Amino acid sequence: MYKKRFDNRKFDESRPIEATISVVENATGSAHFSLGNTKVIAAIEGPKTLHPRRIQDPERGLVRCTYDMMSFSVDDRKRPGPSRREIEIGLVMKNALQPFVLIKEFPKTVVDVYTEVYQADAGTRCASICAASLALADAGVPMRDLVASVSVGKVGDKIVLDLTKKEEDYEEGATDIPISMSGRTKEISHLQLDGCITLDEFKKALDVGEKGCQEIYELQKKVLKEKYGGV
Ligand code: UDP
Repeated sequence: MYKKRFDNRKFDESRPIEATISVVENATGSAHFSLGNTKVIAAIEGPKTLHPRRIQDPERGLVRCTYDMMSFSVDDRKRPGPSRREIEIGLVMKNALQPFVLIKEFPKTVVDVYTEVYQADAGTRCASICAASLALADAGVPMRDLVASVSVGKVGDKIVLDLTKKEEDYEEGATDIPISMSGRTKEISHLQLDGCITLDEFKKALDVGEKGCQEIYELQKKVLKEKYGGV
């Protein structure tokens, strides 16, 4: 039984969410995004001509995502450089974001999305997707929607929103379901499931995840509106 969350949050409450845009001067667009102690910077370069030329698509552009977690971001120092996990998360990010980017508007080019996790307490892929979506908007990359992402899961017998590392590691290990969803149209572009869950619990988790994504989407809109006006 998981009676009370370690940090006293309600079961369907996310950690404090903060978002800022235009934080990296030399990038085309950028954002800082945090979910509690999970903190990420995203920076965009491009659209720029894709090299080598033989991989250019005359019909559409490409979104390329690079995810990195700094060595000091976790308690057990992480080995620097891209591991299999980091390459996989880069692909997960691309799959979550690219469906909402109007890539036909910039053929033969690439938009590079870099995310750097400098403090990690679970949910780093979700925070990276939220930061990247904001950074793409800040860069003026044409998109049909923003993407919000959060993890939902089952800790003990409870469905919970936005798991911390301590919750992920609870007892035999929690069920972790990172979800990415477009803010306006509520299309799910990414869902992973690590663990076991019944169908009814899964449906409940999706509802809680949607609520979490909507909360993030409202904040994303707010910070963009503050700088650029209507979104
Ligand atoms: N983590 C770690 N060392 C690593 C990789 C991950 O301590 O080399 C921690 C970190 O807090 C991370 C969490 O484990 O946020 C969960 O990692 P996972 O691969 O499930 O991805 P995430 O939940 O961060 O998207």
